[in-house]
Amino acid sequence: MIGADRYRTHTCLGAAAALGERVRVSGWVHRRRDHGGVVFIDLRDRSGLLQLVFHPGEGEGAMDVAAGDLSPEDVVSVAGEVVARDPATVNPALATGAVELRADSLEMLSEADPLPFSVEDENQEASEELRLTYRYLDVRRPRRLRALEMRSRVTAAMRRVLDDEGFLEVETPVLTRSTPEGARDFLVPSRLQRGSWYALPQSPQLFKQLLMVGGLERYYQVVRCFRDEDLRADRQPEFTQLDLEASFVEPADVQRLVERVLEESFAAAGAEIAAPFPRMSYAEAMRRFGTDRPDLRYGMEILDWTERAAASGFGVFEGAVGAGGVVRALVVPGAGSGVSRKVGDELMAEARELGAKGLVWAAVEEDGGLRSPVARFLGGLAGDLGAAPGDLVAMVADAEPVAQSVLGTLRVRFAERHGLVPEGAWAPVWIVDFPLVEWNADEDRWDSLHHPFTAPSPEDVERLESDPGAVRSLAYDVVLNGLEIGGGSIRIHDRAVQERVFALIGLGEEEAEAKFGFLLRALRLGAPPHGGIALGLDRLVMLLAGERSIRDVIAFPKTATGADPLTGAPSSVDPLQLRELGVRPAAAEQPGRASG
Ligand code: ASP
Repeated sequence: MIGADRYRTHTCLGAAAALGERVRVSGWVHRRRDHGGVVFIDLRDRSGLLQLVFHPGEGEGAMDVAAGDLSPEDVVSVAGEVVARDPATVNPALATGAVELRADSLEMLSEADPLPFSVEDENQEASEELRLTYRYLDVRRPRRLRALEMRSRVTAAMRRVLDDEGFLEVETPVLTRSTPEGARDFLVPSRLQRGSWYALPQSPQLFKQLLMVGGLERYYQVVRCFRDEDLRADRQPEFTQLDLEASFVEPADVQRLVERVLEESFAAAGAEIAAPFPRMSYAEAMRRFGTDRPDLRYGMEILDWTERAAASGFGVFEGAVGAGGVVRALVVPGAGSGVSRKVGDELMAEARELGAKGLVWAAVEEDGGLRSPVARFLGGLAGDLGAAPGDLVAMVADAEPVAQSVLGTLRVRFAERHGLVPEGAWAPVWIVDFPLVEWNADEDRWDSLHHPFTAPSPEDVERLESDPGAVRSLAYDVVLNGLEIGGGSIRIHDRAVQERVFALIGLGEEEAEAKFGFLLRALRLGAPPHGGIALGLDRLVMLLAGERSIRDVIAFPKTATGADPLTGAPSSVDPLQLRELGVRPAAAEQPGRASG
């Protein structure tokens, strides 16, 4: 261990293996119990807890007093002998539970004031605002600490694999210009070039491609990325990616590498994942699960009842099909018995909120009959869809994309609500054969589905102009338990193709030159075929740590409004600073007013 013995000879955990030895440990007072003169203290350091026992009259007199005066989270250094616990008091739940430290000296290193919330009682409710204001106290809670430890081990495992595969870790600029990943940029004004702005990188995409042109062949970086998005859902304005790129590779090469990275990351977190991962086309994922992030831990696929519905005599169904729509269904195992008309109405409202015109439900009774407000129109339904007694059938009649996306969302909710998600299961899948572009009806043009540097499939390139919507790309996403944990692609390394893709997404020649001239030039000066991927480290560690929010695995996260209550960021700045930058203060106090 680094350091002399001034503060400690052992960690709390290490002391457990030093039975009969005299040791010194240092840490925080986690808990104190006074048992009629004998005082027990649970001392906590990063390694865990160790029980200290103080007997009155033993050791120095000062010790007795200190032991009596100690308050939670005081920092102390304690020496004594490691002894076996009385068999009756052994605590098997604790790694150090078979021993205790018979303390004979105690030194106070730092006294703690009364705490804003308990560190010892992790279940004690404290608002997120309070916990983030005192994030260092929150981090002392073992659960937080374990998550950060896991994150460090996972990152180390990633580095080991990539190092082993000959990847070079290279840092790319934080002060740079905008890269299109589809979000807003954070901007930094330049003082030396007044009126000009840097952008914080949304990803190192263009730099890693330029490194390939630079002949590095294999690059990676554990890198902070910045996206100024509305923080609905579980997002952070800054987040970390494992970003990598390699030359002379095809999709399968990148996928195999990522599988190895993930296998080792899982092992580092004490879990296991089986490679190779299955592959599924975007079209198949959308058809079977209504999303390109399918959770494959359970079945419950979206089923089609359009043909039968068209002849069911039910006006709603016939109208939808007549208008070119579809009737799609989910069979939720065992969820039928609890469905009353009231629950059905709630389901209907839920589907409407998701964008459907409505929802039809039916519960399959013990005798195979249907209970539903419109049962008389649903003859043959249970048999057609393979629904068994006790199951619930939920149906949406609408335009196909609407029906699919609504049922895709409901599928995930039903699985959670009805306990259909198997505990401890890992279901990874590669989603491939994405469309290159999607139609943006608001702006009346094509948008890249990933980013504009993604290569079209060679067999589809000729249709770039004639039938853009049918062009597939060489992009691949890795999805785990219904969450996208990474996305990447083979890139365009041919300048002419890059120019055609820019033109397709409405980027005129001049604009393309102004924004990406440096890339286009590089593509003309010997660009190797290359591709890569970025994995979302926060999300991956969140899944591995069994947490529900990425904030739980980030040391200093921001709140849902992008604030850091600990430091008070973002904050106002000195007007002088702004003047130097040539920036006028915005009318922040008048929300809703367009800023100029
Ligand atoms: N730059 C992409 C992203 O941040 C990932 C990639 O294509 O490698 O999502």
